[in-house]
Amino acid sequence: MAGEASKTAYARAQQVLVGGVNSPVRAFRAVGGTPYFAAYGEGPYLFDIDGNRYIDYLMSWGPLIWGHAHPEIVRAVAETAAKGTSFGVPTELETEMAETICRLVPSVEKVRMVNSGTEATMSAIRLARAATGRQYIVKCVGCYHGHADSFLVKAGSGVAALGLPDSPGVPQSTAERTLTVPYNDEAAMRGLFAERGAEIAAVIVEPVAGNMGCVRPLPGYLEAVRSITKEQGALLIFDEVITGFRLGLGGAQERFGVKADLTTFGKVIGAGLPVGAYGGRRDLMQMIAPEGPVYQGGTLSGNPLAMAAGLTSLRMLEEAAKRGIYEQMETYGRRLVDTFCDLGRKYGIPTTGDAIGGMFGLFFHDGPVVDFATASESDQPLYARFFHGMLAEGVAFAPAQLESGFMSCVHSESEIEQTLLAMERVMAGLGRG
Ligand code: PMP
Repeated sequence: MAGEASKTAYARAQQVLVGGVNSPVRAFRAVGGTPYFAAYGEGPYLFDIDGNRYIDYLMSWGPLIWGHAHPEIVRAVAETAAKGTSFGVPTELETEMAETICRLVPSVEKVRMVNSGTEATMSAIRLARAATGRQYIVKCVGCYHGHADSFLVKAGSGVAALGLPDSPGVPQSTAERTLTVPYNDEAAMRGLFAERGAEIAAVIVEPVAGNMGCVRPLPGYLEAVRSITKEQGALLIFDEVITGFRLGLGGAQERFGVKADLTTFGKVIGAGLPVGAYGGRRDLMQMIAPEGPVYQGGTLSGNPLAMAAGLTSLRMLEEAAKRGIYEQMETYGRRLVDTFCDLGRKYGIPTTGDAIGGMFGLFFHDGPVVDFATASESDQPLYARFFHGMLAEGVAFAPAQLESGFMSCVHSESEIEQTLLAMERVMAGLGRG
């Protein structure tokens, strides 16, 4: 729970930083209260500037699959930094990173490194438009693909709605080229393509939605989207910024056996440094400059520190996968969800959730949660009380219900046990009203 030091730091930050933060979710608007300020992290723990220790399930919103300050990653960054932080000419680290991504994700034959998930998705749709000569993109309601203009579009009512800007400053002319359908709704996707198929450049989708809580695809959904896009000459872009190397080494594509034309990455591939990437079919990627005419560049893209951190993380994941690390993360996530649901039944509180690979979600909702509409029915005030209760117990979940929780390779039996005991106390309190 934020103490005096965090309160003072937040007041100071608000004078000069917009909302006191550099990304809106950090302001805790969904749960209220003052954000705790990080001092340092160690494995599964985050320590704030008041000296509180939290078992961390936020994990910087996904990148820290090896927890905080993993010695191998810290060493790789330090050794690389000592040789220079950026060169503006190629390094072999970038090739190694690209080779690793291509090896682990078979649909990716060529890669371009960028600096954030937003850059990756923004560039992928530019490429999709260029490759198809079509202007429209389709996204699912409640999926987040970063803050580029084309993605800041909310759904209207009905099966499919013409995009309206979700934010002032997004031109209507851009927003209306983004069409939206509910997640997990195959019929809506078919309907939209029946009407507008010839104009659609690409469908971009989070193969497991991580920005409306954690919502997995219904059986057959991704396969259907794959076949619809193929039939209609549109590209399929999997936004694996969260799921990449988190559901498994091959991400969602491996888990569900569905191949995308283009894939976007971020988070885990940078291990906490600013990185994104997009890649896919060779013939498509060859359209990017300098091989082709579609422009996209970046002063710091493929930054050596980020490459060193990410490569170390991916190498360790490859080793750990052999000992079943992804299954372990899923089992731990499942235990959090199952206990949460059991406690809900015990105390008469509606609860549901899901865990898959290294991500999980907890909803104050009877279930099932399959899309943004159902996710939005969850009890937000109750989540806020749960969140603050858990924080007071030294457990940090995401400061908003409609976000995913993140397990790491360094969460162990001990942290899971402590979390479950804390959950029992907090849910008992909620049950008393
Ligand atoms: N796509 C997905 C699925 C994401 O979850 C996010 C960020 N949470 C992004 C894209 C954007 O990434 P970034 O914040 O690095 O720009």
